[in-house]
Parts: sequence; C-alpha cells; structure tokens
Amino acid sequence: MSRLCKIVPERCIACGLCALYAPEIFDYDDNGIVLFAQEPEANQQFIPAKDQEAVIEAYKQCPVRAILLEK
Ligand code: SF4
Repeated sequence: MSRLCKIVPERCIACGLCALYAPEIFDYDDNGIVLFAQEPEANQQFIPAKDQEAVIEAYKQCPVRAILLEK
C-alpha cells in the first residue's frame, strides 16, 4: 500500500538529511530546500511500498517536521 507524503518547503532548513535517507524520493533545489526528486513541482506524492522504510526514516530525522507522512 502506498502512503501519502507531503513536504512543507517553507519549514525546511536545508539540513540535507532527508535525501541521505531516501535519495529516490527527496532532492533539493539550488538553495538546498527539499523537493520531490521525481516531481519537483509537487508538494505531495504517494510513496511506493519499496521506498516507505526510507521515507519513514527521513520523516523521523527531519528536525523541523517539513516532511509529513499520512498513516
Ligand atoms: S530533513 Fe527536513 S529540514 Fe532537512 S533538508 Fe530534509 S526537509 Fe529540509
């Protein structure tokens, strides 16, 4: 089952952690602010099962809750 993930770039402090944990899903703009690697314009994306563990880890590590994950 895929889970919906949202990002809140306004909260992001460009710490660089999320793409370390989930490089398939997260990337950064020129200022280091989070965006979705596959869909840079989107602020939400369904995460396929294979990437969920990595995204959960990124979600836990984000210091400012700029990554939201639907249960
Ligand atoms: S972990 Fe959070 S604060 Fe750090 S780059 Fe990713 S979204 Fe931004």
